[in-house]
Amino acid sequence: MKTNNIIFRGIPISQGIYLGKSFVFNRYKLMPRSKNGIVDIDRELQQLQKAFDDAKVEIEEMKKHIGDILGKKYSDILNAQILFLEDNELHKLIKLNIEEKRMNAEMAFKSVLRNYINSIETQTSNEYLKDRALDFKDIGMRVIDKLSGILTSNIKESRNKIVISDDLSLTELLKLSREKITGIILENGGKTSHCSIVAKALEIPMTIQVKGILSVLKSDKNIIIDGRNGVVIVNPNENTRRQFEKKKMEYIDELNDLKGIRDLEATTMDGVKINLAANIEMPLEVDIALHNGARGIGLYRTEFLYIEKGYPPTINELYMDYKQVVEKINPNSVIIRTVDLGADKLFHDIYLGKEHNPFLGWRGIRICLAKEKIFREQIKAILKSSLIGDVKIMLPMVSTVEEVERAREIIDDVKKEIDYPEDKHIDIGIMIEVPSAALVSDKLAPIVDFFSIGSNDLTQYTLAVDRNNYRVSYLYDSLHPSVLSLIKMTIDNAHKNSIWVGVCGEMAADPFAIPVLLGLGVDELSMTPLNIPIAKKIIRTMSISEAKIIADRALKFNNGEQTREDIKKGVLEKFISLKNIYFPRSVNDDII
Ligand code: PEP
Ligand code: MG
Repeated sequence: MKTNNIIFRGIPISQGIYLGKSFVFNRYKLMPRSKNGIVDIDRELQQLQKAFDDAKVEIEEMKKHIGDILGKKYSDILNAQILFLEDNELHKLIKLNIEEKRMNAEMAFKSVLRNYINSIETQTSNEYLKDRALDFKDIGMRVIDKLSGILTSNIKESRNKIVISDDLSLTELLKLSREKITGIILENGGKTSHCSIVAKALEIPMTIQVKGILSVLKSDKNIIIDGRNGVVIVNPNENTRRQFEKKKMEYIDELNDLKGIRDLEATTMDGVKINLAANIEMPLEVDIALHNGARGIGLYRTEFLYIEKGYPPTINELYMDYKQVVEKINPNSVIIRTVDLGADKLFHDIYLGKEHNPFLGWRGIRICLAKEKIFREQIKAILKSSLIGDVKIMLPMVSTVEEVERAREIIDDVKKEIDYPEDKHIDIGIMIEVPSAALVSDKLAPIVDFFSIGSNDLTQYTLAVDRNNYRVSYLYDSLHPSVLSLIKMTIDNAHKNSIWVGVCGEMAADPFAIPVLLGLGVDELSMTPLNIPIAKKIIRTMSISEAKIIADRALKFNNGEQTREDIKKGVLEKFISLKNIYFPRSVNDDII
């Protein structure tokens, strides 16, 4: 690649500037053929058989577990994968590749798998069969992993590099993050997808929807990612490199400055204290939260243990996980959200089959109430952890009063089952993330202890915009007056019933949204730990009376952009010293 400074622009997700080497993440990369075509045929055939046998044992185990928990209808979904492993035609083709084409076992298997998947994907218009291609990819990866650990070894090559991919699943991100990757650039991806949220939490600079980058970029090339404004520069020249090194240092200095306010309270100029809490996905993030001055965990997303394992963890595994968080955050509280599977949280592909409209389908509390065993086991673990610290329960994806009533009945029943101390009260709150919940918040408030507004989903459901779909991302705006009206209604109804309200969607950390949320009367903001100091700085520089005026105007505007312009004119001028954080200069200023 000769040209210097090939510039791409995408959507910024996670701040931070990094200069380094690229790693193109390719799930289905073929291993090179063995040198000189020398292959020990017997050994390769044995390895192949062993990989198939091991994969089958694993699927049978998973099938049994799923059957126990969800019933036969769901465990039978895995039959297709078992049939695939037993397919004689498939075995013949792979053997042929090893014996006659002298391929090693991985290569022989992958080349057959790829043809298989290609023929399904390109030659059929049958949606059902196309969906089956996904099953084959899934089982394919399992066999490949057994044969060569390719997924693992491929991921290991990412150590300390900037990862470029079409998209990343949460599991892939979690595996990559263990290699200390220094940035993520995706051709696709969604602003509030769980991969984006976790990348932010892990403080990995990230830019999404960088169209065309995969067609020019290979691994081990020099690259710059600027997660402040979504700029990616491939093959930067010396001058550009120097400029970005300087910006990186300035940015780090500003962040350090902000951390100086870590131990101060988030109190407005007119004396109103806002609770600033952290959103976490894994226990290890509690340290990051504390380091950034969080006063408690406002949202503990508990899906990841389920997703990583591929099936529900045991009560003890759950308890050990919660115990770590509760102990570390003590004496502050942790809000444990009961598992919000479904939609884009991949677990459901295996357990629940495909749905045409997964975001409107079986998700969150709906799954928990239908598959009570999953819910009861998690509640047991949460209740147990509440005996060692301040723990609250939160239910996701609530859309009706009856769901909350039923969940409460089950929780009471579990308390009896485990002899939970009668004199101990545990707060039960709900997420307000579906418009119907906001609209009946007057009926919900009397039966819960708190509300937490999930603005990511509330925005997607109010504006009918898939939070992960880049084609409609221009419509996704949490500051749209329709969303703000629902937030106002929720807060007003909560306060009338003397309960508190938090916001735990990405909006809670948006410098443009914070003044509006304060003006609407929110009591707590919970966010990615890294954003806490910035939020605190804004809160400490504002008064509630000023925020109320901003919020009133925001409710009357036609769209969120007008609110941003309004706030830019006034409030943000106060933060000009934090130029790298608030005002990443225009792309052209940045690049020579
Ligand atoms: C939300 O919807 O705003 C939220 C916090 O939940 P999640 O992002 O996990 O769906
Ligand atoms: Mg949500």
